[in-house]
Amino acid sequence: MSNTVLQEVLTANRDYSANFGKKGDLAMPPARQFAVLTCMDARLDPAKFAGLAEGDAHVVRNAGGRASDDAIRSLVISYKLLGTREWFVIHHTNCGMEFFTNEVMRGLLANSLETAALTEHGFHDIGKGPGSRAGEFIEWLTIKDQAQSVRDDVERIREHPLVPANIAIYGYIYDVKSGKLLEVAEANKIGKAA
Ligand SMILES: [Zn+2]
Repeated sequence: MSNTVLQEVLTANRDYSANFGKKGDLAMPPARQFAVLTCMDARLDPAKFAGLAEGDAHVVRNAGGRASDDAIRSLVISYKLLGTREWFVIHHTNCGMEFFTNEVMRGLLANSLETAALTEHGFHDIGKGPGSRAGEFIEWLTIKDQAQSVRDDVERIREHPLVPANIAIYGYIYDVKSGKLLEVAEANKIGKAA
């Protein structure tokens, strides 16, 4: 199965590279001077939903689009070395991060290292052990409420000592049913550039 994916990706890349055009001349700093922090969810394509071309913007992705220490590391590099001035924090409806807690994730991992099943009652482990308790040491940054998580993350970035006040931070929720970006007004207020 994975070999099929490998072949598909390499074939797609040959086509992409064959039509690469002038993209080899793009500068390193994002031409449109902005960055997007969003979830790794496969249904989200920031290049499409936000109209990005190669060279336009930084896109930082992780599970949930959360303002983790590592996401903040990337954003600081994004402005300090590469000149971005505006940042978007975009979480989304039906995010997988709403379907578990730290405790659940740690339990699933302690049980087995196989993929769990998602049922209407949440994730259930169906794998054979042994698992590992190493999940106890990770904060999984799960989400209870999307508007709240966007607000929390914009606030965390806004208040970070390495983030200057003149960077505008916008908070949005992407609706996976319509493709629309829905504003989180309170997050935008917190994120306003000074
Ligand atoms: Zn997600």
